[in-house]
Amino acid sequence: MNQAIEKAKVLIIGSGPAGYTAAIYAARAGMKPILYTGGQPGGQLTITTDVENYPGYPNGVMGPEMMEDFRKQAERFGTDIRYGLVTGVDFSKRPHVVTVDDQITLHADTVIISTGASAKWLGLESETRLNGKGVSACAVCDGFFFRGQEVAIVGAGDTACEEASYLANICSKVYMIVRRDEMRASQIMQNRVKNNPKIEILWNTETEEILGEQEVTGARLINNITGEKREISISGFFVAIGHQPNTEIFKNFIHMDSSGYIKTIPGTTKTNVEGVFACGDAQDNVYRQAVTAAGTGCMAALDAERFMAEQENH
Ligand code: NDP
Repeated sequence: MNQAIEKAKVLIIGSGPAGYTAAIYAARAGMKPILYTGGQPGGQLTITTDVENYPGYPNGVMGPEMMEDFRKQAERFGTDIRYGLVTGVDFSKRPHVVTVDDQITLHADTVIISTGASAKWLGLESETRLNGKGVSACAVCDGFFFRGQEVAIVGAGDTACEEASYLANICSKVYMIVRRDEMRASQIMQNRVKNNPKIEILWNTETEEILGEQEVTGARLINNITGEKREISISGFFVAIGHQPNTEIFKNFIHMDSSGYIKTIPGTTKTNVEGVFACGDAQDNVYRQAVTAAGTGCMAALDAERFMAEQENH
């Protein structure tokens, strides 16, 4: 039996601030967007607690609550929000073909990729258990909660250095846990960290366990050369060992950098494929903020709308 294939003018993949903002704009422009949420509806903000840096919430807001507000706003204007994971795409011809949960196939005139990125984690049980209770993968989001306190950060790339410096401005002391005897970060970033008296770098050091029952109280560390163990008292434990953009399924069609971030034409959300746009963290390894993701989500919807208008005029 031939099943009719569903058509969409705009198909949005992902439900973080970028995806929902794209949906709000596309829906209000009468494009009847269909949005697939992905495996983590609401995205990375649903695993954070207080959000204090999103404009419009003077008293702060809980991450999950904010994403619920985004969802409701997108729904209010008629976005068709569906729970499902996009498992494959074919962008080799138009309309674009998108497969959901390996079962449903849709044809889309335009596609907005807002699949985000996921922080990499160490993989410790205590890290999962204390996530949001002192364990965080975003110093800019959560550092403020530890003002005047001692914290630790793991990693030795540019992000870890930048975040260690950021934390040192707020916290009384920052332990930087580096697994080798050198850093991957650029020299200038390293120097900034090394010259900061509030940052103590622990070389050749790995984390055995993050300590605490209800919240982080410390960490047990091991020197991977000498085997010597030590415990430090901290109230915040930051993981800055890189992010992984969720872009694997697009790699046969969409141009990306060596880390998998989607390349867009500067100043736009256009990818190398006509009618496919990318926004949010899937194409941004620099800012990675909810408000910047929302901004590019708006851009993607406007770009998609203009693209459709141009097609109709031809
Ligand atoms: P990177 O991949 O550059 O660095 C990851 C760091 O985490 C490395 O030091 C790595 O150690 C360490 N690491 C990885 N896994 C573990 C683990 N299991 N335990 C302990 N340590 C671990 O990621 P970044 O997020 O720092 O940077 C990503 C990109 O963004 C880079 O290209 C960077 O230059 C860029 N960037 C630029 C900035 C700027 O210019 N202002 C700011 C922020 C990022 P090891 O070295 O031993 O592998």
